[in-house]
Amino acid sequence: MEFTRHLTQTPTTDVERDKVLQNPGFGTHFTDHQVIIDYKDGAWRNPRIEAYGPIMMDPAAAVLHYAQEIFEGLKAYRHADGSVWTFRPFENAKRMNRSAARLAMPQLPEDVFVQALKELVEIDQAWVPDGDGEALYLRPFTYASEVFLGVRPALEYSFRVIASPAANYFGGPLKPVSIWVSRNYARAAAGGTGAAKCGGNYAASLAPQLEAEAHGCSQSVFLDPLNDNAIEELGGMNVCFITKDNTLITPALSGSILEGVTRKSLLQLAQDHGLKVEERRITIDEWEEGINSGQITEVFACGTAAVITPIGELKDGDKVIPSPAKTDVTMALRQELLGIQTGVVEDRHNWLYQLV
Ligand SMILES: *Cc1c(COP(=O)(O)O)cnc(C)c1O
Repeated sequence: MEFTRHLTQTPTTDVERDKVLQNPGFGTHFTDHQVIIDYKDGAWRNPRIEAYGPIMMDPAAAVLHYAQEIFEGLKAYRHADGSVWTFRPFENAKRMNRSAARLAMPQLPEDVFVQALKELVEIDQAWVPDGDGEALYLRPFTYASEVFLGVRPALEYSFRVIASPAANYFGGPLKPVSIWVSRNYARAAAGGTGAAKCGGNYAASLAPQLEAEAHGCSQSVFLDPLNDNAIEELGGMNVCFITKDNTLITPALSGSILEGVTRKSLLQLAQDHGLKVEERRITIDEWEEGINSGQITEVFACGTAAVITPIGELKDGDKVIPSPAKTDVTMALRQELLGIQTGVVEDRHNWLYQLV
């Protein structure tokens, strides 16, 4: 596709941008441009780069009423030689199309998705930070823009990509996060939208998030309460366990779990390092017993935004399950994944894709 460029008349000055890049935070600063592709009359049209800025929207736009919206999240990493790379972008392109299918939205060709990332990062490459653990977070998303209040799949959509320089997701130096066991709320159920990356899932995770915070925890873990209380995932991250006999266990994809690219990559890296891997049901009782008996030595959360974060204490009502004994395998996997992404560890599986 040929992208047209309508560049901003008021680019951020070098001084202002350097100030942002010195302390990027997460998701609060945005680059100068955005990608836009319209969907109308059954086809994607007018791919373009425009200045970053507000969306003028009709109050009856379908997304505002029935939440037909999906998104993706991936990062652009600056390598030592100045080049800029992203990680397994075709996985995100495919997943966005799976999400689209579930929300009755149109498919975007995978190569157009990846090209859109490349076009934006090329123009806004000065925004890719080079500090330790820093990257340019890329947020592709599609929403129903059709002006229509009836209930049916919209006929018009807008695909966009915006970008935001990012440091550590949880802020400050890496420390284990405490987790609240969500017993009052589930995140998703069989047949629902749990495997789709859609804004609606996140809206539904916010009340449980507040409940977690009210109990002094930073995240909730969601279960499958209608069956055996198998662990599903956190609101935006998958969960993995390391056992004392060198096995990585992660909940099997059940249809209600989001298939993380980080999760998938770690399953491979763990095998590369001689760990056994198991994708299976693991219940909250097994978690508790495993910590108490020493069978489970490490627990961590994984996703693009937070990479890999050790999980500390687990709170389940009045019960406190103490932090796992160790974090060494967690930290080794984190180092290796970040190393591949930032170009200091060999990319054995050809996961990197050059943007600039
Ligand atoms: C995005 C997301 C993840 C992590 O996926 P990655 O591809 O690893 O970033 C996990 N769970 C949910 C609910 C998500 O939305």
